[in-house]
Amino acid sequence: MSERPRLTVLSGPSGVGKSTVVAHMRKEYPGVWLSVSATTRSPRPGEQHGVHYFFVSDEEMDKLIANGELLEWAEFAGNRYGTPRAAVLEHLEAGVPVLLEIDLQGARQVRESMPEAQLVFLAPPSWEELVRRLTGRGTESPEVIERRLAAARVELAAEPEFDVTLVNTSVEDVARELLALMNVV
Ligand code: ADP
Ligand code: 5GP
Repeated sequence: MSERPRLTVLSGPSGVGKSTVVAHMRKEYPGVWLSVSATTRSPRPGEQHGVHYFFVSDEEMDKLIANGELLEWAEFAGNRYGTPRAAVLEHLEAGVPVLLEIDLQGARQVRESMPEAQLVFLAPPSWEELVRRLTGRGTESPEVIERRLAAARVELAAEPEFDVTLVNTSVEDVARELLALMNVV
């Protein structure tokens, strides 16, 4: 690749299928590097420290923020999440395409600090389908689902702020479209 790869940000409402799409894409094309975020939320069954997230305490998150170690961070549905800055910059410098899977507030911060970043919005085929996916995943309590659906309304309204929208009807199709947007296929 001749051009320096761009940073790509993938956002979209909770339950739309971001993790599923990213997992499929990385299986097909392991050359994309996905940033591992720090979070104060507890691991879901099967989630591993250092692989899916760095699961940190509130105090550890305070320190990461105070020391300027995060490229962006946000509070989402009662927990804090942030992108470790150094690893993102190192991979971009090394010519590796970098993907961030973060929420709307984080995407806005990246747009400010790295205007060359490409912002991709993953949309559900319909509101009903989003509710079905979020509920069907079965990993959150009804209260948490309500908070995430409230956040989803806000996120869906912000879709025009993004450079591109992909509708997650087929995981395979969306993964392929995302790879094409990242210039790696
Ligand atoms: P997110 O990371 O955006 O919160 P997940 O990747 O956890 O969402 O997906 C939420 C649920 O929707 C999961 O149960 C997943 O299997 C399902 N899902 C994801 N993409 C699709 C799709 N294209 N069609 C049907 N179900 C999907
Ligand atoms: P979940 O708890 O379902 O893994 O993630 C909840 C939300 O937090 C999702 O919208 C996800 O994209 C977002 N998120 C994950 N990591 C980060 C991060 O580092 N920064 C920001 N701003 N959001 C994140």
